[in-house]
Amino acid sequence: MSESDYYSYLRQIHELYGDEIFVTFPETMQTYSLSDFENEINACEKCSLGKTRTKFVFGVGNPQSPIVFVGEAPGKDEDLQGEPFVGRAGKLLDKIFAAINLSREDVYICNVLKCRPPQNRDPLPSEIELCEPYLLRQLEIIQPGLIVALGRIAAHTLLKIKDRMMDMRKQTYIYHGIPMKVTYHPSALLRNPSFKKPAWEDFKEILAVYNQILSERSTNG
Ligand code: SF4
Repeated sequence: MSESDYYSYLRQIHELYGDEIFVTFPETMQTYSLSDFENEINACEKCSLGKTRTKFVFGVGNPQSPIVFVGEAPGKDEDLQGEPFVGRAGKLLDKIFAAINLSREDVYICNVLKCRPPQNRDPLPSEIELCEPYLLRQLEIIQPGLIVALGRIAAHTLLKIKDRMMDMRKQTYIYHGIPMKVTYHPSALLRNPSFKKPAWEDFKEILAVYNQILSERSTNG
């Protein structure tokens, strides 16, 4: 809207409502965005990982994505770059997305922990307890229709179970009210190429759900 259009709009509003003008704020001023949240927590030191990390790894992708992919924690490359799923495993994940005609910009990717555990050890229960509320807040803002846990540890961490990957990937779980699927971490696919076939089946199913959620959202406006 040009400046003259804006003043003409204000004059019309004044004629209609007199001095009692109701202002509608732009949407960006009304909503609390993912980047607002990132700015709020990116200096977190609630657990000891805040002191050993190089970079805080919040998440990347589309803040309105129908699907959120969740790994366990940043690794060495992620810690250096401040972005989840970079390095060899991340490149493979990008290739899998490309094979189903998606990209990082179509989905949202993050981890349960936002800081790297030293030597890539598994997250400690105390770290999960402190950091998981951040993931829940991210999900509350994004409101995805599906969560995909990438890897056994991420699934065990989120679901508080110890089932085998081959069993978990056949199930649809509910995580804080959101449907959740489980598939292999791309690092596992690099270590064991025989997992690629079942992972490909999982991603075809994930794409079908992605398209279904988009279609439902466009129908519901
Ligand atoms: S891992 Fe989570 S809780 Fe621990 S310092 Fe990092 S952001 Fe904070």
